[in-house]
Amino acid sequence: MKEKDSRFSQYDPATQLIRAGAGYAEHGFVNPAVYHASTVLFPDVETLAARSQAYVYGRDGTPTHRALEQAIAVIEGGHSALLCPSGMAAIATTLLSLVSAGDHVLMTDSVYRPARHFCETVLRRLGVETEYYDPLVGAGIERLIRPNTRLVYTEQPGSQTMEIQDIPAIAAAAHRAGALVVIDNTWATGRFFKAFAHGADVVVTAGTKYYGGHSDVMLGAIVMSEPLARQIDLGHHALGACCGPDDAYLALRGLRTLDVRLQQHMANALALAQWLEQRPEVDQVLYPALPGDPGHALWARDFTGASGLLSVILKPVTREAVAAMLDGLELFGMGYSWGGFESLIIPFDPRGYRTATRWEKGPALRIHVGLESVNDLMADLDAGFRRLDTPR
Ligand SMILES: *Cc1c(COP(=O)(O)O)cnc(C)c1O
Repeated sequence: MKEKDSRFSQYDPATQLIRAGAGYAEHGFVNPAVYHASTVLFPDVETLAARSQAYVYGRDGTPTHRALEQAIAVIEGGHSALLCPSGMAAIATTLLSLVSAGDHVLMTDSVYRPARHFCETVLRRLGVETEYYDPLVGAGIERLIRPNTRLVYTEQPGSQTMEIQDIPAIAAAAHRAGALVVIDNTWATGRFFKAFAHGADVVVTAGTKYYGGHSDVMLGAIVMSEPLARQIDLGHHALGACCGPDDAYLALRGLRTLDVRLQQHMANALALAQWLEQRPEVDQVLYPALPGDPGHALWARDFTGASGLLSVILKPVTREAVAAMLDGLELFGMGYSWGGFESLIIPFDPRGYRTATRWEKGPALRIHVGLESVNDLMADLDAGFRRLDTPR
């Protein structure tokens, strides 16, 4: 676990992303070494017994890990950060560190689906009940909070369905009742949404996405407020949830260019979203930076930018036509994850697993808008829409 260094608070985010964690480099090199390590040697019995040195065992991290933890803690705005082998491991480690048998968890119905799966399997077996809430609930969350509600788990925008939540209202109600607020901040990152300033106690983030930024690393991080740091650090230690030094290094390398990448993802996504809105095949574009998006007012109030992930609702059309559109795309790959430099597209349908809200919109596509020329992306989708209009 590494605490953020308050010296960085004087800088703008773009500078923080360049400088934070740089102190771990040695011998004049710009970047820290990649330490492959299990054993760390101690100079004498006394130091060994007291574990009184900065590094004690590879599982607890090396200077490579500390550099990334510090940089993520600074940019997310929390007290300290821990690394995990994936975003999902960060979610699981956070929940297992904070809840106990008999606790109640309120989780957004728009949550990343594997997080819901974790609650319905592991947490349920351990005697923790999870109840799902409408992401648009706002201050109304108050009515759902019970005496044993330990935490409210939020994510925004919603995975695939892109709802923006009123986090300050939810956090105020949760804190009045003594409950914690956990936010999955993967979409915006700390660059575009300052979760702690809006009421979060813990941020989980899939570093696999924008921090890594190149589709070549699996990594997660937990960012904590000071009162929770020790408890989550204990849970993280007990679970042995460490990540490899090469992955930490790749994510640190990705993080250095996060600002310019996110600015370009946003510019491309906004241009593509506006173009998609004009297409006759499109019923609705879900992207909070669009003035017509249902979450736009909250987004404009709370965020300083939007990343490259958006969703599109098509007018009624057959599965075969959608397949004809997607199968022939040249620049949009089909596959899970997102946040790399390249554009991706997948169809989705949340009707089967939502429980607190109903999703009744037509065929839907999730698009990650990459860093290609947006004109080329439009031409590729334009050809795709023509295949959609004239099914084989
Ligand atoms: C991808 C994702 C995760 C999980 O990250 P992995 O590194 O793939 O385990 C968690 N939350 C959100 C919102 C995601 O998009």
